[in-house]
Amino acid sequence: MLDRDEPEHIRMLRQTLASFVEREMPHDLAQRWDSGETPLDRTFIKKLAALDLTGLTVPAEYGGSGIDLRACLVTLEVLAARSTGAATLYQMATLFGGTHIVEMGSEEQKRKLLPRVVSGDLLVATGLSEPDVGADLASVKTRVRRDGDNLVVAGAKRWCTGAGKADLIWTLCNSDPDGARHRNLTIVLVPVDAPGVVLEEQKTMGNHGPGTYDVTFQDVTLPVSALLGGEHCWNNGWSQLLNTGLDLERIVSAVQALGVARAAVEATWQYAQERVQFGKPICTIQSIRHMLADVQTKLHSCTIMVDRVAALLERNEPSPVETAMAKLYVCETARNIALTCQTVMGAYGYAVEYNVERYVRDALLMPIAGGSSAIMKNNITNWMGLPR
Ligand SMILES: Cc1cc2nc3c(=O)[nH]c(=O)nc-3n(C[C@H](O)[C@H](O)[C@H](O)COP(=O)(O)OP(=O)(O)OC[C@H]3O[C@@H](n4cnc5c(N)ncnc54)[C@H](O)[C@@H]3O)c2cc1C
Repeated sequence: MLDRDEPEHIRMLRQTLASFVEREMPHDLAQRWDSGETPLDRTFIKKLAALDLTGLTVPAEYGGSGIDLRACLVTLEVLAARSTGAATLYQMATLFGGTHIVEMGSEEQKRKLLPRVVSGDLLVATGLSEPDVGADLASVKTRVRRDGDNLVVAGAKRWCTGAGKADLIWTLCNSDPDGARHRNLTIVLVPVDAPGVVLEEQKTMGNHGPGTYDVTFQDVTLPVSALLGGEHCWNNGWSQLLNTGLDLERIVSAVQALGVARAAVEATWQYAQERVQFGKPICTIQSIRHMLADVQTKLHSCTIMVDRVAALLERNEPSPVETAMAKLYVCETARNIALTCQTVMGAYGYAVEYNVERYVRDALLMPIAGGSSAIMKNNITNWMGLPR
């Protein structure tokens, strides 16, 4: 890996993570998590908590180690390079749990939930998409209504990653069907074990470790305290989503894509030196060397983009345009890198045993989830002020 000009504590973190990954996530286990032969147990996150890695998005006053978003994203990337399933559990704890609650939660929610993030006892799934609602999120049909001191949630979410392992689903609801668009949305923290929540696993090409779920809410009755941010956030869900929610989804996809691309390049770089054809390693063939030069260069450009966004977040200067650019470029490029690596490896790039087949499936998801590439392009031109 080329030098990333990282501070000393991040270099040390990488060493800790490298030995953690070798010890706790050997390649064959990552493969079995993906195939379902060994279930990816949510208690895996407790091992990361034991290393103080689940407190990286939680301020000390709530029991965390203080916010270090760069360290959190480095951890996510390293985990994703071995298993996107494990990385997804980590992001469900630290980012969809930690960061969302730190930035949008009420004081009561912070006191109650953040210590559980730190101890590795809280996983939060994201419930935005619905059977009939993808990119057009402001059109969600899942309803929340007030009933005295209670909320009643009714509707259906689709593609809800990790719902079967989560404690809460961060659920975007329509709270005022007659209200103005974007001013009629509310986010509710729905406990997965609440009466009326029904899960059904969907079959997908990848994302097998955490699983992908259809979630139905059958008049789920919850106390008003389940409103993310408290009662005053009623009908305020769209601005909560724009300010933190979607930005986080984008950077998380880009970081996971970077991890997967790096794993694919490293595996292929090694394989090309070991595979002998016509009496010499295939890495000596010029066309193979060129493909390897291409993927290394693309990987480097992805790294620079992700590090730039991480640095902006670290300085508390988030840039939605740059984050959308990173989501677009890194996810598309990671897919391209993974497919090139598969080409270099020939038939072995298609064999489950050699991991690159899994990296390809993982990489194919990245430009779809967390907002499609087309939507990122729309965002970039709109936010940069191009007249419509
Ligand atoms: C494995 C997996 C896991 C997922 N996990 C989650 C999750 O945990 N939580 C969650 O809420 N969602 C999740 N998703 C859903 C994902 O975020 C959506 O798939 C994504 O936002 C796009 O929605 P859609 O697939 O319904 O596409 P649609 O919105 O139906 O779009 C279809 C096509 O049209 C294009 N398109 C749509 N509108 C426009 C436009 N205005 N301009 C240009 N092009 C446009 C899209 O780019 C796409 O190519 C997951 C998806 C998958 C596959």
